[in-house]
Amino acid sequence: MTAPFVSSSTRFEVTAPPPSDGSTRARTGLLGLPHGTVETPQFMPVGTNATVKALSPDDLKDAGATIVLSNTYHLYLRPGHERIARLGGLHRFMDWDRPILTDSGGFQVVSLGDLRVVDEDGVTFRSHLDGSVHRFTPEHATAVQEALGSDVAVAFDQPVYPSSPRDVVADATSRTHRWAERSLAAHSRTDQAMFGIIQGGLDPELRAESARFIAGLSFDGICIGGLAGDETPSQRDATLDVAVAALGDDPRPRYLMGLGSPADLLEAVHRGIDLFDSVLPARVARNGQLWVPGGRVNLRNRAFLDDPDPVQEGCPCLLCRRFSRAYLAHLFRANELLAYRLATCHNLTFTLDFMARIRASIRAGTFPADMTDLRARAGRMSGGEGAEQSA
Ligand SMILES: [Zn+2]
Repeated sequence: MTAPFVSSSTRFEVTAPPPSDGSTRARTGLLGLPHGTVETPQFMPVGTNATVKALSPDDLKDAGATIVLSNTYHLYLRPGHERIARLGGLHRFMDWDRPILTDSGGFQVVSLGDLRVVDEDGVTFRSHLDGSVHRFTPEHATAVQEALGSDVAVAFDQPVYPSSPRDVVADATSRTHRWAERSLAAHSRTDQAMFGIIQGGLDPELRAESARFIAGLSFDGICIGGLAGDETPSQRDATLDVAVAALGDDPRPRYLMGLGSPADLLEAVHRGIDLFDSVLPARVARNGQLWVPGGRVNLRNRAFLDDPDPVQEGCPCLLCRRFSRAYLAHLFRANELLAYRLATCHNLTFTLDFMARIRASIRAGTFPADMTDLRARAGRMSGGEGAEQSA
């Protein structure tokens, strides 16, 4: 069994390693960070603007959240990282006392910024809010995250769509490597972890090379980027297999960025991933899509207006404990704000409970045999839904 990984900010211990028969790479672990310990595999709800849309910190805790992600790009533009630092840091600002991971802003700069001129030193982009021109470099993205004071900062990278031509992927990947070294060199907070990002698109050689390069640097954890985009599930599976195999017995946590449907989470855990984030459960909730065992129900459907049952029998969330499908269907049709809160509470509770079931199965040593039941519970919530990224 691999010894725990320990640094000034991070302790990661694999508590149930994958079986030696090769039937799965799934594992459980404990990730210790400055604001608390996170059981893995784990899902991180996304609080883009220092809030998971429609939820209070108490709602998040009730849903079972132990760590959240917040977006560096958004907080840098509004209200500003220096303002948040003056107000005591991101934890105090959003009144969340558990771990926070901030992304590097690379994905948002490339996907949301209008101008986005990439050069060797950094990226110049136009704010999606007011068109003002800004510039991110590895050093600046690191400084912004240090000001926010997240538990985990992420190195600045240049993501590209999985389907991009090989020369575009190769160019972005080698630049990501140079930026990884610069991000690490710029990082000075010893009470904050820094994770590095593997790129390499869908090309097995580039992916393996990137995994080895990033793993060769003194990061506290390894992110797998450039997926959860326009690739097919089988392309994603194959790419994960290459990356995780290249990491070998590396003792650090592995985080697949941007994946969020229960079916997709399950397959990625099976391939050895420990951490996930996505806006998906909350976004589809706000559209009236409620996740239940085996599939989903659309509460905008008028058939539910007379349904007195809870959305999911036995679910401990605020919605299912106290309200009927009929009530939620009414709230959506009347555009009442409470609909967003209740639906989001439910989808996050479902997702985090699903991760807890996966962990229990891995700990019991029955995960490969339980995959059939877990797949049935996840339903067919993959494909287009799963292809959305945090934004
Ligand atoms: Zn519920």
